[in-house]
Amino acid sequence: MTRYYNDQLLNDITNRLDIVDIVSETVKLTRKGNRYWGLCPFHEEKTSSFSVTPDKNLFYCFGCHAGGNIFTYVMKRDGIEFGEAVEMLAGRAGVQLTLSSKNKKADQIRKNVLEINQAAAQFYNRNLLSNQHQLAYDYMVSRGIKQETIEEFKIGYAMDSWNALEEHLLKKGYAEHYIKISGLIKRSSNDRYYDLFRNRIIFPISQYNGDLLGFGGRVIDDSMPKYLNTPETELYSKRRNLYGLYQAREAVRKENEVLLVEGYMDCVKIHQNGIKNCAASLGTAFTSEQAVLLRRYAERVIILYDGDEAGQRETLRAIDILRDQELNVEIVTLPGGKDPDEYLELYGKEEFLHYIKNNKVTYLEFKINRYINQEKEMNLEGQRKIINSVKMDINSLASEIEKYYYIKTLAKKLRLEENIVYREISSKSRDNRPIAENKSIKYRDNIEYGNYSLEEKILAAMLKSKQIYKKIKSSIGIDFFTKAEYQEFILQYDLIQNLQQMTEIDDEKMMPIIARIEFMMEDIGEIDDIGIDNFIRRVTLVKAKRRQRIIYHKLNILNTEGDFNSLMKFILEIDTILNTTREGGI
Ligand SMILES: [Zn+2]
Repeated sequence: MTRYYNDQLLNDITNRLDIVDIVSETVKLTRKGNRYWGLCPFHEEKTSSFSVTPDKNLFYCFGCHAGGNIFTYVMKRDGIEFGEAVEMLAGRAGVQLTLSSKNKKADQIRKNVLEINQAAAQFYNRNLLSNQHQLAYDYMVSRGIKQETIEEFKIGYAMDSWNALEEHLLKKGYAEHYIKISGLIKRSSNDRYYDLFRNRIIFPISQYNGDLLGFGGRVIDDSMPKYLNTPETELYSKRRNLYGLYQAREAVRKENEVLLVEGYMDCVKIHQNGIKNCAASLGTAFTSEQAVLLRRYAERVIILYDGDEAGQRETLRAIDILRDQELNVEIVTLPGGKDPDEYLELYGKEEFLHYIKNNKVTYLEFKINRYINQEKEMNLEGQRKIINSVKMDINSLASEIEKYYYIKTLAKKLRLEENIVYREISSKSRDNRPIAENKSIKYRDNIEYGNYSLEEKILAAMLKSKQIYKKIKSSIGIDFFTKAEYQEFILQYDLIQNLQQMTEIDDEKMMPIIARIEFMMEDIGEIDDIGIDNFIRRVTLVKAKRRQRIIYHKLNILNTEGDFNSLMKFILEIDTILNTTREGGI
């Protein structure tokens, strides 16, 4: 990410503002010692686990693990981006923002294109609501869309003309240069320009903050293509936006849940029925950028894509992308291949909500069902294939009870005995490359200090004392952290060796981790040398065991593959590896 603002500027803002003031605007804080405590604004709770430390200008919630600096707080509270948070807080702090000339030009383009989009939306909207284009209005009526909804979503109509919009915009005084950049007009083969949207219903696409970035157009007859979007422009990127999120954001945040649909019509129709926490993925493949955007508003996603084959396939893809962002995903498949718009039209709101409530399944159940439905005939090969397809998902579940539940479900659906499925799921196949083990050496942390794990105590000790840091780094390295975030943190820290500097970064993912570490440093006392030595010994032992397991695994493969030369070479290598392990002191 290119930095738009320099550190000095961010420091100025932070120094002039008090994080306690900013948080107090929405959270009632009580002072205890040198910290302030209150009910977390980011998750429901009855006892305070949300804390602010004015000394360090950081906040952290021990319940939902949200945390960060003053910028992170405002971003999360208002659902805005870093740049916007900086602008807003700079205004509060009375700090002047200076933009480089390149940014000034980009700002100019953005400002003009936003205005043009706004004017175009108004033009289209007036077309639809005037009685000059009865066909378009009748179409909306036939689709069950009410006038209030047309107004709320500023839905419009692009008339069947080659340059009605262009003429309108030029007459209003907008420069042709910016109209071209907006993507609303297109160059023809003989170098003339013509309107992109003709004879289509127009859905304006707003960013989460209401900025109108682009449009989607749907035909009202059988013309092709059925849907047409603003091309990717300086402002508009399909990958980064969700239709309806602007209208839905309050409800999504309040319910901590979003209903994700495919089409504009579905989204609009669901809103019209008073279900406000709904957004649409703009008729494209769901992207990780969209998942990141959703994560800012809610922890739970219900995917409600079309019931047809394409919709179901797309659901499977979206599941993995959303799971990567650690969102809780459930799926609803409407009966008879219906889409949400049709279902609502046929059965109404109550039945729709009722259906969702009673028929949503977890992402894993969805996967299992889908793989089973895809097998024409359930033979041995099919059973194995299905188990293999969900093996990784089941193994990655943190809870044994959940694991057991899915093994039981699988067994039942595949008509196999539970213990057979269990063994198949637990067995290490060749697909589980030894490299994968590298990522997670599991240490059992039974010794708790408050809510901090052993790993965290070691981390605190390392950050507090340069001597301990050096000792650990030289004996076992710094790549032993099981939590990926701590692993990432320590690698970054190793480069700059300055915790203060790290609290000023604008990495959305890293910020809560850094905040927790800062709080932890205050809470955790000194760890004595014996504790550190014990820890080093344990890590060395686990590493050695893991190495042996990898060797064993590799030997097995070489053995079955029968490559005599590689086998010999490998046996010679083992000797060296085992010697180094012994030198490690075991
Ligand atoms: Zn919280």
